[in-house]
Amino acid sequence: MQPRDLSATSPYVPGRGIEEVARDLGLDPAELIKLSSNENPHGSSPKAVDAVYQQADDGLHVYPKASHTDLAEKLAAKWGVADEQIWVSPGADGAIDYLSRAMLDPGQSVLVPDPGFSYYRMSTRHHHGEITEYELSKADGFAQTADLVLDSYDGERIVHITSPHNPTGSEWTRDEIRTLLGEVDDETLVVVDEAYGEYSEEPSSIGLLGAFENLAVLRTFSKAYGLAGLRIGYAAVPESWADAYARVNTPFAANEVACRAALAALDDDDHVEQSVDSARWAREYMHKNLDAPTFDSAANFVLADVGDAGRVAEASQRAGVIIRDCGSFGLPGCVRISCGTREQTKTAVETLNEIV
Ligand code: PMP
Repeated sequence: MQPRDLSATSPYVPGRGIEEVARDLGLDPAELIKLSSNENPHGSSPKAVDAVYQQADDGLHVYPKASHTDLAEKLAAKWGVADEQIWVSPGADGAIDYLSRAMLDPGQSVLVPDPGFSYYRMSTRHHHGEITEYELSKADGFAQTADLVLDSYDGERIVHITSPHNPTGSEWTRDEIRTLLGEVDDETLVVVDEAYGEYSEEPSSIGLLGAFENLAVLRTFSKAYGLAGLRIGYAAVPESWADAYARVNTPFAANEVACRAALAALDDDDHVEQSVDSARWAREYMHKNLDAPTFDSAANFVLADVGDAGRVAEASQRAGVIIRDCGSFGLPGCVRISCGTREQTKTAVETLNEIV
């Protein structure tokens, strides 16, 4: 027996783990610098780590409930929305699934960016939807505008936009998002993915939820909050969707430890600020010092146009710096380098400049 025909669903291929790469190269993982998954090189907030230990002490045998509600309430207060507008999820990935489930009837179409984050496609296929694409152009520095999306838009049920965008680092202005929201049909949901929102200086689109009924915004604790390993994120959704969450989420959507850690991380402004400042420094450093053309980035990584990206990524890995060949994003010729600590970033630039 086999699963149903999944051939139209491209597999999700995460970057390789540091232990796996170290084993292949016969190196100690401590000798490697991993800049391939846009993780926070400064780790998690100590307050979040304490919360994890505390929860382990308190016990892990009870289903999560109160922590989940506490987190939704705290996030709602942070963003000035109602508690029911926060859909806590296992990572932003989980929130993408909840929105697909909430929106899609079989055969409906979803408009996604190309290049773009692959899980929009995967989730659409899982929910029996069809995929259409809008293309970001390298020649335009991957600029993202309402016109670019509207040129390809044909009444799709969901339009995914990413700001800042993975893997290019380009972003939307609030005015362009407003224009897009005003132009699409009332029955089209625009999903603004702000997984990298903390690194940008643009205001969050959560602030537009009061004005638009066809908007959802994704955020995560995986990046600036340094909790990627715990899988915790959320969607902010329209006020009128109050009863939909309980119909689409996985029972006990996010785990107790993750919710408690996220609550603690929200109390550690210093950790987030330092993480964001450090990433901004690193992306400037890469722009200035890499011997390859780079694109403006509002995120915690920089995209570099290196030509033979496969060769460059492999040579860099052999030299101890793991970066991402963007072929798997539909962007051949480019590599994506996550912002490391100062030391890691300098080493990465030095290493890459010997290769490109
Ligand atoms: N959206 C984008 C654009 C991403 O790059 C990522 C992570 N790679 C996600 C969503 C998912 O993040 P999470 O870890 O919260 O599931």
